[in-house]
Amino acid sequence: MSAPLTIIGSGMAGLGLLRQLREQHPTRPMTLITADSGDDYAKPLLSTGFAKRLPPQRLATRSALEVADDLGIVVRTHTRVEAIDPVERTLTIGDETLPWSELVLAIGAAPVRPFRVPDAVAGRVFSINDLDDYRAFHAALEALGRPARVAVIGIGLVGCEFANDLVAGGHAVELVAPEPAPLPRLVPEPLGRALGDAFREAGMVLHTGRQLVALGADGVSVGLTLDDGSSLSADLVLVATGLRPRTGLAESARLEVSEAGIHTDRYLATSAPGIHALGDAACVDGVNAMYVQPLLASAKALARTLIGTPTAVTYGPWPVLVKTPLLPVVALPPAVTPSRWRLEGEGGDLTALAEAEDGRLIGFALTGRCVRRKVELARSAPPLLG
Ligand code: FAD
Repeated sequence: MSAPLTIIGSGMAGLGLLRQLREQHPTRPMTLITADSGDDYAKPLLSTGFAKRLPPQRLATRSALEVADDLGIVVRTHTRVEAIDPVERTLTIGDETLPWSELVLAIGAAPVRPFRVPDAVAGRVFSINDLDDYRAFHAALEALGRPARVAVIGIGLVGCEFANDLVAGGHAVELVAPEPAPLPRLVPEPLGRALGDAFREAGMVLHTGRQLVALGADGVSVGLTLDDGSSLSADLVLVATGLRPRTGLAESARLEVSEAGIHTDRYLATSAPGIHALGDAACVDGVNAMYVQPLLASAKALARTLIGTPTAVTYGPWPVLVKTPLLPVVALPPAVTPSRWRLEGEGGDLTALAEAEDGRLIGFALTGRCVRRKVELARSAPPLLG
């Protein structure tokens, strides 16, 4: 039997590609190998589940077994690929060596933890980047049997969404981050401050401009010490200090990689023949967008390429919608530093337009009622990957 087309990773990129491939080629042998449970779920929903008190099983639309049955593929769950041989076209899992005809890396990005977590509190410090992580944090909340005091470390998109969701679910949240205002990489500071104000009005405590310097046991709680000597105590700590594309597997196989991800061209081809990459792991022609619309466009284009119609991927001017109902935020960050940001509006209803030297719109950020302008503004903005 010929070696299967093999996809590593069962996130939205891996499963999205499999769906597209199956639609276009009903019989091709395909194998999916994944380090996690392989359940079919939408990752963006992870930061909306605590407000609705959703148990993990409500977030998964299908189990890995159902995915395998529906798509007629072989699925191996809780299985980590340890090495790839691009010349022999094999991969290694423990003592096993498996052949592949073509290989797709849809291995995502991993949470970064820029500080040490002592063993004494390790069971109370979490990151949530997949359904298994959500299961673990949900179980820890349930075990308390009462509203929790949660310290969220990091005020980027993931930290802000979880903070908003946890407060909406009745928990007490304190946010800690070195930046002066929320969403520092997505929106200009005045819009971040507007979100910070909405968070405070909802009862959150914000320790902005502060680094976490130590974590330790404080009775049954976790004690957090900040760089100004102040401290706080929490039942649980949720770390949201960024994600880094998983490049180790590709790098060991001598594929071209950088901090931005596994390098591909617009056909999602890596530097090694027969190996493609997409999703959070991939830096496509210099762009790693790390959100859903680009990876779905990539899955569509790559499926066509893999069935014999080479198709380059393009990304439109797709803004990011931040799920903070306390103050909705939409952002299309400019690809280059703008010549100026033009700010309009007041209170929580703000528009920030990023302009090039010649006045062209190259990005924008919107809060509150101004998020209605996203479609109109996106029409005038440049594509992410044209
Ligand atoms: P992942 O989902 O990370 O999947 C990677 C897969 O690879 C996993 O199955 C993993 O087990 C597997 N894997 C890794 N290494 C190995 C190995 N060596 N062997 C085998 N398997 C391996 N985007 C939006 O557009 N809108 C949103 O509202 C939004 N909200 C978000 C909220 C949160 C809380 C988070 C964390 C992200 C959010 N995003 C959002 C981003 C979006 O969810 C991601 O861009 C997308 O899910 C990434 O999918 P992926 O398949 O590339 O990676």
